[in-house]
Amino acid sequence: MKSASELKKEIIAAVDEQRSEIFALADKILHNPELGFREEKTAALAADELRKLGLEVKTGIALTGVRADMESGRPGPRIAIMGELDALPVPSHAFADPETGAAHACGHHAQMTMMLGAARALSKVIKELWGAVAFIAVPAEEFQSLEYCRLLISSGKLTYCCGKPEFIKLGILDDIDAVLLIHAGHDTFTPESFNGFCMKQIIFEGKAAHSGLRPWDGINAASMARQALNMIDSQRDTFDDKESVRIHGIISDGGSAVNVVPARAELELQVRAKTPEAVKRACDVVDRCVKGAAMAYGGKVTIHNLGGDMPYKSCPELNAVHAENLKELNGGILTNFGHRGSSTDMGDVSQLMPALHAYCAGFSGSPHAKDFVVTDPEKAYIDGAKLLAMDAVSLLSNNGAKGKEIAALPCAMDKESYFKYKDLFSSSESCDYSE
Ligand SMILES: [Zn+2]
Ligand SMILES: [Zn+2]
Repeated sequence: MKSASELKKEIIAAVDEQRSEIFALADKILHNPELGFREEKTAALAADELRKLGLEVKTGIALTGVRADMESGRPGPRIAIMGELDALPVPSHAFADPETGAAHACGHHAQMTMMLGAARALSKVIKELWGAVAFIAVPAEEFQSLEYCRLLISSGKLTYCCGKPEFIKLGILDDIDAVLLIHAGHDTFTPESFNGFCMKQIIFEGKAAHSGLRPWDGINAASMARQALNMIDSQRDTFDDKESVRIHGIISDGGSAVNVVPARAELELQVRAKTPEAVKRACDVVDRCVKGAAMAYGGKVTIHNLGGDMPYKSCPELNAVHAENLKELNGGILTNFGHRGSSTDMGDVSQLMPALHAYCAGFSGSPHAKDFVVTDPEKAYIDGAKLLAMDAVSLLSNNGAKGKEIAALPCAMDKESYFKYKDLFSSSESCDYSE
């Protein structure tokens, strides 16, 4: 059997040999951006690529997801290399689809390219490894197109608004021991944690009346929404700094006409925090504020909890494997970013199994903005393809020893507690103070 370092040299050579095909793949995905749960072209391309490697491919998982397993033929850990399929609605982006406005303004096309590049390289050395590598393309990371998702949920096609929780629900990750993903970025780093969040739609209902003639006959739903926001704002200093609480949102309905006392007002709020418990505590505060506002005006409030991402917990042992390979590849340093206030549904996965959510360099501009583009394709695509495959070699060579060690690490949640938590944030309640 060849040593891990020999295999990694073969990986680097295999990716280098296929450089022009990998760049062509990146270009094709970049120029066909698709929104969450509608990534048909990207999914078909990924499935074709994996079939070309002789793999059996499962498609249509959670509508557009794809999975193909590459077997070594020896027992051992089963690790997943993941890529996210979806783009974002950023119509002003240079590479936006003119019809849908979708653009790869979060660089997920690079993730898909790295995953498929890694698959090409690993197919050359898989017979020298133990266990297996599952290549998984996951839909809808971005928690976008809420209305579209709600439609899919109400017609029974989905349970959640994101791809990874849907995969967890369908049992697609049940046999996976660890997950690897590299996200587009400005530098090689890895966060220690990400905030989780719960999305809330809050509907206040009052009573319409003529605003000039007889406003005293009305119950002002917009006033309830304003007071609810004031009460939430005035409680910000009660949140522990360590919990990284962020509560932000929009007034999505403020009434129908200026001369009518608003009978309906709606808020959409995102409640974020660093741990599942902290998200729950912050949600309780928000719920008390909106109920308090409805009570003060004698109105009605309905709270729809529309789910969200779980907080992400990094796995130091997997980060160490990635850091070592980055150093071996080009002398790069993997810096520890600390905590990130944003969120990802990789958080859900990281509560259940060891997960790597690293970043690569090669992009400039602000993520989710029109100027987020690839400036160094070598760093954005080629280095990542090599690194993911090298990480897989580290985990699955030498009898799969490192992979087994990481697979045995304790996880934050089991599936039962995970779903209990998800249910908590997929619920609705109404309070009527109008009687
Ligand atoms: Zn994003
Ligand atoms: Zn992203």
